[in-house]
Amino acid sequence: LFVSAPLSEGQPVEIGRDDAHYLFGVMRQGAGGRVTLFNGRDGAWEAEITQAGKRGGVLTCRAQTAPQWDPPDLWLLFAPVKKARTDFIVEKAVEMGVRRLVPVATEFTNSERLRQDRLQAHAKEAAEQCGAVFVPEVAELQKLSRVLDDWDDARRLIFCDEATARAGEGSSARAGLFAEAGGTGPWAVLIGPEGGFSEGERARLYGMAAAHVASLGPRILRADTAAVAALTLWQMRFGD
Ligand code: SAM
Repeated sequence: LFVSAPLSEGQPVEIGRDDAHYLFGVMRQGAGGRVTLFNGRDGAWEAEITQAGKRGGVLTCRAQTAPQWDPPDLWLLFAPVKKARTDFIVEKAVEMGVRRLVPVATEFTNSERLRQDRLQAHAKEAAEQCGAVFVPEVAELQKLSRVLDDWDDARRLIFCDEATARAGEGSSARAGLFAEAGGTGPWAVLIGPEGGFSEGERARLYGMAAAHVASLGPRILRADTAAVAALTLWQMRFGD
């Protein structure tokens, strides 16, 4: 369970109605039960349920079970797609260990509005479910052009371009992802919308010093598949 309170031995942590409903109602836990807590700073802690009520409860930290772990400095920039598929992208990116998710509106992005708070809650649930001790931040939806205006070239951008697949450049452009010598330094992966990137966006990205074009093979993947594939390849090459 993700909490905001500090975690240390003997520390009581109060939980509110939603967490109480989940723990005591859905999970049928009660006083004396054990729960794993994390807050993104103090690692994972086993806590004992010392008070259980309908409107809240108290969990008391007993022992640290894992040290704090921070994901690599990897962002996922993605164009939102249909709701269920966007949820999938967020969930899988958290499982794949990204540090920050940045929804970007591209020229061919269809969804104009995005509930950032809903996606952030989704990221929290995914982190709880996969045993991470870190909840990535989900940024507000921003225009891709604005994000690129402010780009810091120290962060390398893996630009997943579907045109490489259409041009049959699968294996040669795929090599771009692995051509980097060192694995250190901040990274970002960019996945486009179902409609793909415009020629203008493509030209701009090809002109950016920080951008490395990457192919995910000779077939056109759906945006959600592409996100998982690109993060998997990144983890294989640079991850822990
Ligand atoms: N409508 C586009 C087309 O027909 O070319 C396809 C867009 S694809 C469904 C969504 C996104 O996934 C793309 O913008 C790209 O970022 C990524 N993608 C999908 N297949 C890819 C591939 N083979 N190589 C690199 N990126 C890919």
